Amino acid sequence: MRIVADLHIHSYLSRACSPQLRPENLYEWCQLKGITALATGDFTHPKWFSELTETLVEADPGLFTLKPDRAKAVDERVFPACRAPVRFVLGVEISCIYKKGPRVRKVHHLVFMPSLEAAERFNTSLAKIGNLRSDGRPILGLDSRNLLELVLKADPQAVLIPAHAWTPHFAVFGSESGFDSLEECFEDLTPHIFAIETGLSSDPAMNWRLSALDGITLISNSDAHSPEKLAREANLFDTDLSYRGIFDAIKARDGRFVKTLEFFPEEGKYHVDGHRNCRTRLDPKETLRRNGLCPVCNKPVTVGVLHRVERLADRPEAIRPSGAPHFENLIPLKEVLSEVLRVGPSSVKVAALYRRLLESFGNELFILRELSLARLERDHPTVALAVDRMRRGKVRIDAGYDGEYGTISLLSEEDLASKRQMALFDA
Ligand SMILES: [Zn+2]
Ligand SMILES: [Zn+2]
Repeated sequence: MRIVADLHIHSYLSRACSPQLRPENLYEWCQLKGITALATGDFTHPKWFSELTETLVEADPGLFTLKPDRAKAVDERVFPACRAPVRFVLGVEISCIYKKGPRVRKVHHLVFMPSLEAAERFNTSLAKIGNLRSDGRPILGLDSRNLLELVLKADPQAVLIPAHAWTPHFAVFGSESGFDSLEECFEDLTPHIFAIETGLSSDPAMNWRLSALDGITLISNSDAHSPEKLAREANLFDTDLSYRGIFDAIKARDGRFVKTLEFFPEEGKYHVDGHRNCRTRLDPKETLRRNGLCPVCNKPVTVGVLHRVERLADRPEAIRPSGAPHFENLIPLKEVLSEVLRVGPSSVKVAALYRRLLESFGNELFILRELSLARLERDHPTVALAVDRMRRGKVRIDAGYDGEYGTISLLSEEDLASKRQMALFDA
């Protein structure tokens, strides 16, 4: 069956995360977004783990859902057009900070477990190494290779996938504290790494420029810190609804992993180089011309993902390796509506139209990707125009840098002027 999976999120127990990130809300938002399988996030946190065991029940091998009485209460408030089954995968992000060679390394990893028992074994072994209570995303003084060893010991089906592999500060290939190859990081256990998460600031095509990644599957997830951000990136499968179905598909590269749904990478907050505080955005060539120094403060700039990929790439152009899934670029629906209505994406007006569209047509990913434009155009002509532009990649973007998100636009002043009357109708 067709499955949209978002495998990297957090609970309310992770730093800087929304108090709304609780099982019932996640279950509800999965239906609004169009997610079939969602990582629980944070399962190493004792409090979250006990909440999960209290509220969830195994529904398919290795996948969980909300207990029936709780599910029923939530389903009643979900628009009928959006209702769909939801499954949870036991997943967590772990931050490893340690010294290797001359440098301090800071690398984030996603870890998945096929059962509550396996998760419990893993949690017990990690609790001996560091504090699992202070943050839903535990920070451990543990070498990435040794973390992988503990993962594999907990269960033969357990999986580790390096998270947002290119971000400068906390990633396996990060410019500030990462490595130049997977082998440098995982040594003898490297063959157990069969996928990396590309992160918001890079897309598969950028990664295809490294022949070293030809056998590695590229996955994409939201890394949501609030329910609204779920599925801003995600993975589309055509496989059976089970833990093995999902991870075998990622491993096998036989077509069961269909494609990733991606941000436009320029929209990510570390796409190009620069200094946020100095309001300086540099494209990689310019950074090189300036010897890596900021023209305002003369200190080294934060080197973004585009530059870092360029540095490690051994191909001038992206060539899709055989068996690699395709990808599709999306813009979150509220951002699209924000342009149509010319108000902020978190405004009341945008929220109202967002809910009206979901009620009429179905979940957000369906509206962005599949809904017929003719149907959408009847009542919402400007929204249809903007969605069409997004689907065809006709967007204008100011790239993100040094922690600042890029900005994207679909509609010109002219479009808005000519559709003015209709835009009023849209609202
Ligand atoms: Zn992270
Ligand atoms: Zn500066």
